[in-house]
Amino acid sequence: MNCNIIKDLLPSYIDEICSEDTAKLVEDHVQHCEECKQTLKRLQQQTDYVQMIPEEVKKAITPFKKINSKRRIQVITAIVMTSLMTFFITTVSYLVYQDVGVVHDFFSPKVSTVVDVEDDSEEWQSVNFNDKNYLIFDSVFWKKSIVNAGSNEIDSGNETESDILLRVKDVNGKVIVDEIQVKPATSVKLDGLKKNEKYFFEIKAPQGRFFINAF
Ligand SMILES: [Zn+2]
Repeated sequence: MNCNIIKDLLPSYIDEICSEDTAKLVEDHVQHCEECKQTLKRLQQQTDYVQMIPEEVKKAITPFKKINSKRRIQVITAIVMTSLMTFFITTVSYLVYQDVGVVHDFFSPKVSTVVDVEDDSEEWQSVNFNDKNYLIFDSVFWKKSIVNAGSNEIDSGNETESDILLRVKDVNGKVIVDEIQVKPATSVKLDGLKKNEKYFFEIKAPQGRFFINAF
């Protein structure tokens, strides 16, 4: 039997897909042909190796699987951390924003009020700031300025341009600042007023609704 024919048959012999006659032929041949015997042996080893591969692949893949699950944990952790960070940053930003407002209010205290002068009587009319009939400059950041921020007609809401007369009393009813004229869209600075004392503000003005700011 020609060795080349046997070598052609060897793969199907190893794979056990040849007929019994062919198998017997191959076995008879390799018993007395050292070269074909070695070829068969080599092919069988290769086949064993090939059949081993799935197990090897499994083994080879295992670390990657571990890495993958580790990576998965990392990804999940990253997502959770990102969410937490986003929440944290949003919350902190909000609080900082709030604080900026608080800080701003602290450093730039200001209060606004509206005074309705119902008729043109020559009466002094008290000015209420934050529902109190007095104002306390409770920090050094008050500029102690009073602004005539504008005025409207009470009924129509039409803008008017009216001066106001301003006076300030202390807790004893003593007039500290007397009849200062404040033109529309201007302010007066009341440097004589002290910190942490109650002052009572009064205006005299023609009929109208007056917008007054203190800062
Ligand atoms: Zn041979």
